[in-house]
Formats: sequence, C-alpha cells, structure tokens
Amino acid sequence: MSLRFNAIHGLSSKSDVLVDGAAKITAIFNSNVFTLKTAREFLSDEAYKSLQSSIKAGHKIDRAVANQIATGIRAWAEAKGVSHFTHWFQPLTGTTAEKHDSFFTLKGDGTPIEQFEGDALVQQEPDASSFPSGGLRATFEARGYTAWDPSSPPFIMEIGQGKTLCIPTIFVSYTGESLDYKAPLLKALDALNKAAVDVCNYFDKNVSRVTATLGWEQEYFVIDEAMFNARPDLVMTGRTVYGHTSAKNQQLEDHYFGSIPERIYTYMRDFETESYKLGIPLRTRHNEVAPAQFECAPIFEEVSVAVDHNSLLMDVMDRVARRHNLRVLLHEKPFAGINGSGKHNNWSMATDTGVNLLAPGKTPKTNLMFLTFFVNTIKAVHDYADILRASIASAPNDHRLGANEAPPAIISVFIGQYLSKVLQDVKERVSDKMDETDESMLKIDIHKSIPELLMDNTDRNRTSPFAFTGNKFEFRAVGSTANCANPMTVLNTIMADTLKQFKKEVDALIEKGEKKEIAIMHVIRQYIVASEKVLFEGDGYSEAWAKEAEKRGLPNVKTTPLALDAMVTEKAKKLFESNNIYSHSELEARHEIELEKYIKKVQIESRIMGELATSHVLPTAIRYQNLLANNIRGLKEAGLSDAAFANQKQILEKISEHINKTSDLVEKMIEARKVCNNMESTRTKAIAYQSQVKDAFFDDIRYHVDKLELLVDDREWYLPKYREMLFLR
Ligand code: ADP
Ligand code: MG
Repeated sequence: MSLRFNAIHGLSSKSDVLVDGAAKITAIFNSNVFTLKTAREFLSDEAYKSLQSSIKAGHKIDRAVANQIATGIRAWAEAKGVSHFTHWFQPLTGTTAEKHDSFFTLKGDGTPIEQFEGDALVQQEPDASSFPSGGLRATFEARGYTAWDPSSPPFIMEIGQGKTLCIPTIFVSYTGESLDYKAPLLKALDALNKAAVDVCNYFDKNVSRVTATLGWEQEYFVIDEAMFNARPDLVMTGRTVYGHTSAKNQQLEDHYFGSIPERIYTYMRDFETESYKLGIPLRTRHNEVAPAQFECAPIFEEVSVAVDHNSLLMDVMDRVARRHNLRVLLHEKPFAGINGSGKHNNWSMATDTGVNLLAPGKTPKTNLMFLTFFVNTIKAVHDYADILRASIASAPNDHRLGANEAPPAIISVFIGQYLSKVLQDVKERVSDKMDETDESMLKIDIHKSIPELLMDNTDRNRTSPFAFTGNKFEFRAVGSTANCANPMTVLNTIMADTLKQFKKEVDALIEKGEKKEIAIMHVIRQYIVASEKVLFEGDGYSEAWAKEAEKRGLPNVKTTPLALDAMVTEKAKKLFESNNIYSHSELEARHEIELEKYIKKVQIESRIMGELATSHVLPTAIRYQNLLANNIRGLKEAGLSDAAFANQKQILEKISEHINKTSDLVEKMIEARKVCNNMESTRTKAIAYQSQVKDAFFDDIRYHVDKLELLVDDREWYLPKYREMLFLR
C-alpha cells in the first residue's frame, strides 16, 4: 500500500495523546524559567543585586559574581532534573541554535563532578563556522562567540525525558560584528529608548526609560504526520509544490472561528502548557480562515523578550506536534489556492511611568504626547518604507504579499477615519504664522472618540500592511516563519532616527523663542504634510490601489531579491550606522546572507519539483497512459467502432499532452538552473533564480502536474491530496 493510503488508513487508529491540562496556568507559569524571583531564592544577596542591576542597565553580568550566579542557576536546574546546558541563540539561518554541554566533568585526579562555571554561563565559543556570516568572519576573525544577555532569563527546555538548561545569548564575531538577529535588535531598542526618552521629557520629566512592546500573532497549519511524511515537498520545503485544490476549500468560510477539531485542540493545550512553563504568556487560540489553519497570540511583552518567546514557541510547537503524530506547518504558503500564514507584529512603546505612548491621552498634554509619537511613527514608515519592506522579504513571504490574502508589497499606513480627520485638522488649522489657533489646537480632544472606534474590529482595515488599532500599530506584512527580530530592529531603528530628528527640529524652534507646545505642534504639522502620501484608508488588495500608489510614488517591490536592495542603499547605511545598529560591512553581509537564503530556497523547491515530476508524476501518469492505450487497442481489436472509445481517446490525448509538457518544462527548468548557478554575483543570481527559474517554470509545471492529478486513477496517485491533508485528521 502506498504511503498515502497508509496515512489515510492509519488515521482511524490514532489514539489521543493524554495531556495533563488540569493545572491552573498560574501554577505552572514560568516554572521552567530562572526569573528574578527564583534568583532571589538561589543567589546570595550580592549575586542577586548584581544580576538585578545588570538586567536593569542592559549590561553583561559582572565577572566577579559570575561564578556565584552560575552555581545558583545550576542548583536550580539540577533540582529540576537538568544535566546539560546550552547557549541558545538566533543565528541568521532563521531558526534557533543550541549546542549541549554536560555539567559533568572530571577533575585533574579523575574525580567526576558536576560543575557550571561563570565563564560557561557568560560566554561560549560554539563551533559555528557553518552559520551564515555573509563573509564577515572570513575577512575579520575566524570564530564567533555567544554571550549571555541577562535581560533574557535562562530557561529549561524539556524534550521527552531530557531537560536542558538554555542560556539565551547573542552571537557576535570577535571583532564585534553581529552574527545573529538578537544583537542588532538590542542595539535598536537601546537607540529607541534614548530617542524616545528625550522626546517624552518634553511632556514629563519623570520618564527615564522607554521600552518598545510587541505582541505577535502566530498563524500556522497543522496536518497529520503520516500525510506529511508522504509528501516529500512538505518535508523538504515546508510547502506543497504540487496539489490540485480540493473541491471544497475555504469558500464556505466554515472553518474561521468554528469549533476547534478535537485532535488539534489536544495539541494546542499541550503546546500551551509547555509554553506557560517557559513563561510565554499565550492568551488566544482560534481557527484561521483556511482549513487546517490556526492562530495563537500572547499578551504583549517587551520586544526582546517577545522575540525570544516567539522563536521558542515555534520550536515548542514543532516538537509537541510530533508527540501527537501531527506536524505544524509554519511556512507562509504551505498550500496554493487557500490563505497563507502571517505573523502580525503589534507594536507600541511604553514609559517606565506606565504610559502607552500610542494610546490617546486623557488630557490635552498627554494628547499632544500621543500625537507626537503617532505622527513620528507615520513619518518613520513614510521615510523608510523601502527598508521596512526589505525587513520582511523572504522567499516564502513572496507567495503571500499581494496575493489577495495578505497586504500588498506597498507599505502604507491605515489610521482610521477619526484620526485622519484629526491630522487633517492639524494640517489645516496650524498655520505657518504662529498664532492663537495653534493654542486652541492644543486642546483637541483626541481621546474621546478613538478607542471606541478603533478597538472595535469593524473600523479596522484588514488589507493594510501597517494599521493603527487603537493603542498600537499592527505590522501585518511579516511572514509566519520570520524571526520578528528583523522587522523589529528596523521598525525601532527608524522610529529612533525619526524621533531624534524631531527633537532637533523642535529644539531649533524653541531656541528661536517659540513656546514648547507650539513648537511641537508645528513640527507635527510639517511631518503630517511630509508623510501624508503613505496614509491609505481604502482596499489594499485592489488593483486601483496599486495604480494610485504608483502615482504617489510609493515603492511596490514584489520580489525578495529586489526588495533587499533597500538594505544597502546610502540611505540605509547612513540610518543604521548613525544609530549604531549596523556598520556598512554588517549590512553588506546581511544583504548577502538574505540573498543566499533566497537562492537556496528557490533552488531546493525547484529540485524537489523536478524530482517529484520525474520519479513520481510521470511514471504514474505513463502507467495510466498505457492502461488507456491498451484499452483502446483491445476495443479496436474486438472490432468496436471509434465511437466506442472516443472518451478514452480524449483522456489519453490530454494525459499525453500534460506528460509531454511536464517532462519538457522540467528539462528546461534544469537547464535554467544551470545557467543561474554559473552566475558570479549573488544578487544577479538571486534575481535570475526568481525570474528565470521560479517565475518562468514553477506555475507552468504545477499546472500540468495538477491536471494529471485530476486525470490519473486515484488509486495510483501516491501523494496525499489537498482534501486529505486539509480535512482529514
Ligand atoms: P486583536 O488585535 O486580535 O483584536 P488585541 O487587540 O487584544 O487583539 O491584541 C492583539 C495582539 O496585540 C496581542 O498579542 C496583544 O498582546 C497585542 N497588543 C495589545 N496591546 C499592545 C501594545 N501596547 N503593544 C504591543 N502589543 C500589544
Ligand atoms: Mg489577527
């Protein structure tokens, strides 16, 4: 029996995995995290205080107490049955990396002991030469090291019976270049903190720290593991390169917010439990639009922690799914013809005095502060739309953006009717000559109407890539497999940069003798005028918008290789260097790495398409072709008239045509790949892979293969079909 029928057959005998879901969440939350509260129990006063102040200041921990802290962490971990530790980091491959070491060691005289020294906690040198570095380590220094970032607490990862202590680290080269997603993010958050505090101090001198906040929404598909295993394309690329859409897919809209299928529900509860232990504050779960598609979202956290938690969650989701004989598909577009998956990034900024800077205030003064941060965000997105677009560019996300299910590749901002009107008012009523009108403008009461309007889902524009949703912006164009660090690094950097500029301009007016509030209002007005073309309230999916955006001069770069250009423009180099996020060489390196990733992904997809076509589709189709040919021959020999086998002949003709086309196109695609592979420049090669391989062949080959799927005897087709993967569980 083929894997496909085995998979279908096996479904009925799948028993539920027992999940211990009785515990209250609060009873397990953070139980596998070395929180400050835990630290209090396991560390001396001195070590605790030192750790606490490192966390607060965002510094490395003090070497003098590192041994004490390490010993305390080991005592905690061992009490929980941990024997190994690892530095856990987020290299540019896009997944998480770890290398386990044992606490176990031998003393000089051969006595076995368990030990975890401060050095091992603070810094490690993973043999990481095979992580992408974009040539950085080749030119500078051969090795990189991982260093604990105390703002992220150590945690224990449970895999089956094994438990590992994970130390969240950044990954940098010896000459200081970032080799991961986390190090630049921390720099960007620091830049934002400084710039935002300066601006906050116009309104409130007590603000001494501003943190950016992130609440992501993770979309994903779940399918049966046996089906997954029977699809080499899913195994290799995370998406189905072939597969005819099933008669029913999402058109009845019966899956969205429907009841969650039981097997999936058990899985969700299980991965949620694991997440709670790790301190990931998951709060919502529901079905998504497409069949077999779901979403989960946490309560928002500080960006760096939220980023770690999302990376960790993707890992946990994958591991736990296997326990349930399921597979989670995090890919942006696992199935053609139905919605893909995104990861909305809800983002805001909060002060240490407890104010959400994107929540409209209750008094004229806090209103002006809100308006300041609100308009600066719009200005930042306007000025750096291309870099923001580059931050979400990836081969899988190209399938989604602009495909009528996700925002287009045009970056625009949606703010809702009410705030559009407010901005219009400011623009019209604040005049170049400063007078009393300006004073009266300061009294506009934004607070009154916004929250009601925007918090209510009805006034939200789902087609916008960057939408204001009442007290935060929602960056919706991020892909489901993405590490949020990349878009968050860019967003926080462009915000920091814009705020710095804002302060300069306001200060200049104040120096000229202008009253502070009036000066602020004037710069706000300038910013509204300068960036209003990025505001768009209409249907982002429509053709009309693409045309309109072009008229407005907004960039609309549809493919990753070209979108990535924005990372290495003079503008980008200046932005990232002046804010101390990336040097020029770091940017070049990252650009190179992203292009390489793109090339490899398309190359692997192309290979699997060729392989499946040649070794599965064609042999199966040819067998069926023979069957039909024999049938016709037999009927002919039996003396039947042509009319008796007219239908068979018609099918045979169709099949033969699709066989020839498939085979022909696959050959040509392989040739095209060879041409690409000989190209020197990575950028040219990436563009060629996109236009000469992907665009030139993928859809065409798929068309013929999918036709064959419909024509060939169902019993002979051994790849699980869409209806089976999406509807059977
Ligand atoms: P929805 O947008 O689906 O109606 P919510 O408004 O509750 O639901 O939030 C969606 C996501 O936005 C959640 O992950 C939530 O934690 C996050 N979120 C809410 N407020 C903020 C904020 N101030 N900063 C960042 N994320 C936030
Ligand atoms: Mg959502």
